[in-house]
Parts: sequence; structure tokens; C-alpha cells
Amino acid sequence: MLHVSVDNCGITVDNKSKKISLDPNKQPNSDFIFVSHAHSDHLYRCVKENGNKIITSKITHKIAMHRGYKYGDMYQEHDFRLLDSGHILGSNGLLIEDELYYTGDISIRKRAFMNPAIIPNARILIIESTFGDPDYIFPKFETTIHKANLIISEMYHQGIPVILLGYTLGKAQILTNVFRHWKPLIIHDSIDEMNKLYSEFGISMDNYVTFSEAENNNILSSHQPWLLIAPLASCKNGFLNYIKKKYGALSIGFSGWAVKPYYKYALGLDYCFPLSDHCDYDDLITVVKKCNPEKIYTFHGFAESFADSLRLLGFDANPLVYTKGNRNKTYLKLVTFFNKSNS
Ligand SMILES: [Zn+2]
Ligand SMILES: [Zn+2]
Repeated sequence: MLHVSVDNCGITVDNKSKKISLDPNKQPNSDFIFVSHAHSDHLYRCVKENGNKIITSKITHKIAMHRGYKYGDMYQEHDFRLLDSGHILGSNGLLIEDELYYTGDISIRKRAFMNPAIIPNARILIIESTFGDPDYIFPKFETTIHKANLIISEMYHQGIPVILLGYTLGKAQILTNVFRHWKPLIIHDSIDEMNKLYSEFGISMDNYVTFSEAENNNILSSHQPWLLIAPLASCKNGFLNYIKKKYGALSIGFSGWAVKPYYKYALGLDYCFPLSDHCDYDDLITVVKKCNPEKIYTFHGFAESFADSLRLLGFDANPLVYTKGNRNKTYLKLVTFFNKSNS
């Protein structure tokens, strides 16, 4: 019998002989650690020396090591199946004993080279609920890309350079891929590092110059428009504000949180499109129906309200929320739209 619990380290699944921690944020007391993907809110620094065996994909392992996490060897266990979760390259959900499915971060939409998640049937489902609120419904991927292309085209026509902004790992590689026909294409150096890792795993990312190469070769100050892909951050100060002012560039952000109009103003962006590597509300419901579980646990973001919605639909659902003491409720890894850890 599998037992699910949550404490200050994160979510743990227990069955009589072994304990597995799912994306722990501290050193857990468990036999196995599952790392679903290489975003920093799912990694923690010191997996080693405690005898935990790490279950993760080769790609996640490689990206994590590249980001400075010192992980031991990967371990395989026949009771555990890794299933593509469609979130970023190398991301996986975990199916334990054909009975419990943990989604990690998940997307079921085809986006450029990213494929939709594979969803198994399972008796118990642990599902992320970052956008588990009915307000968060995303437009089609193709529609968003088309709209952005129209704006870039108009700007190029007027000789105005454009900056596209997305999370450094995951989103930025999708942007590099779908906007590669614009020239000159300039990629921020931190994104170039991640692009190179993607290339090593067969997703070719080329035909661009890095930001430092562009600066050295005076591409930015030449009198032709350019397209820069940079990490999503506020345009109100720092690097982006400097670039915008110096070259009169227009900024376009890409994030699921852009469903709310105030997001664009909060970050000081000219445009912002809802484009996410997560499921929107309807997608989450689709995942639940496909999985067809008897028991559901929600985590991340709208964990409590999404569990409420699922109960209204007739499912047996509870949020996995770590409760400290009686009153002081702490959401497990609450995601806000300023969460930089997603980069
Ligand atoms: Zn993630
Ligand atoms: Zn996450």
C-alpha cells in the first residue's frame, strides 16, 4: 500500500520497504530521490553522501551538473518508470509500481520540438497545480507565435530592434527555435549555455550570435533591426532597461502569468503573451481525466483551490500542503510570477 505525505523536505511516497522523495528541497530521510527536471525549484544542492539513490533522466542529470549541482550516479529501479512530462528537455513524471503517478511540472501541448506529456492510468495521482485556476486558460501555441511574428515584422519594417524574453531554461530554447528565421538573431550568453546543452541532446540550436559576440562586432549599434532573446526579468531596471533605452528596442515577454494584464505592467514590458511550459487549467483537467485516478493530490501554485475544483467535479482530491503548527500554513513551493527559481 503506497502512502503519500508531505513535510518540510517536500513530498514523500512510502511503501513498506522503500521511501522515495519527490523533488525534495532539503536532504530527505529516504531511500530514493526523484528529480523530475532541472529547474532550480526542483533541485537541491547536496544530493550525495546520504546514500540516497537518484532517479532522474540522463538529460536532467547533465543539466543539473552543468548548473553546479553535485549529483551522484543515476539509479534505475524496475518499479519506477520515467515518463516524458513535456515541460522542458529531459523532464519526466514518475510512475511507481503502475499505481501512483507523479507529474512533476507538466505540459500536454506540442511546442516546437517539445512533445506532449505521456499520461498513464494510475490509482493515485500527484499533480502540479501551478495554473490550477480557471482564470488561467492559454491560447494556442501557434496563435501566440503568429501574433509575435506580426509584431516583429512591423518593428523590422520600422527599423526597431526587438527583445524576446523567457525563462533561461526551457522557454528560451523554444523561442530560439521558433524565431530562428529572424536575422540577425542574438542570444543572451546565459541562454546560449543552455542552448548548447540542448544541442548536445539533438535539438539543434544554431545560426545565431551571442550577445557578447554581437557587442564586439557592433551588431547592436548597426542601423539595422535585430532580434535578441534574453532571460525574462523586469525591464524597469538593470540590463534590459539599459538595452531598451540605448537601442530603442521593443520588449515582448512570454509567460503563463501573462494571462493577467497587470503582469506586463509589473515587469515594464511592451507586450506579453501567455506562453507556458505548464498545463493551463483545462489541460490539468484533461490530465486528471486521462489518468482516471481514485485519489488525487495537488501541489504547487493553486494547490488548494484546484483540489476544491476537482472535488466539485466528483474526484477525491486533497492539496499537499505542508502545515507548520496549527495556524501557520506554508504552501509547498508556492510559485509566484516573480519566481526567479524557475529560470
Ligand atoms: Zn519547471
Ligand atoms: Zn516547478
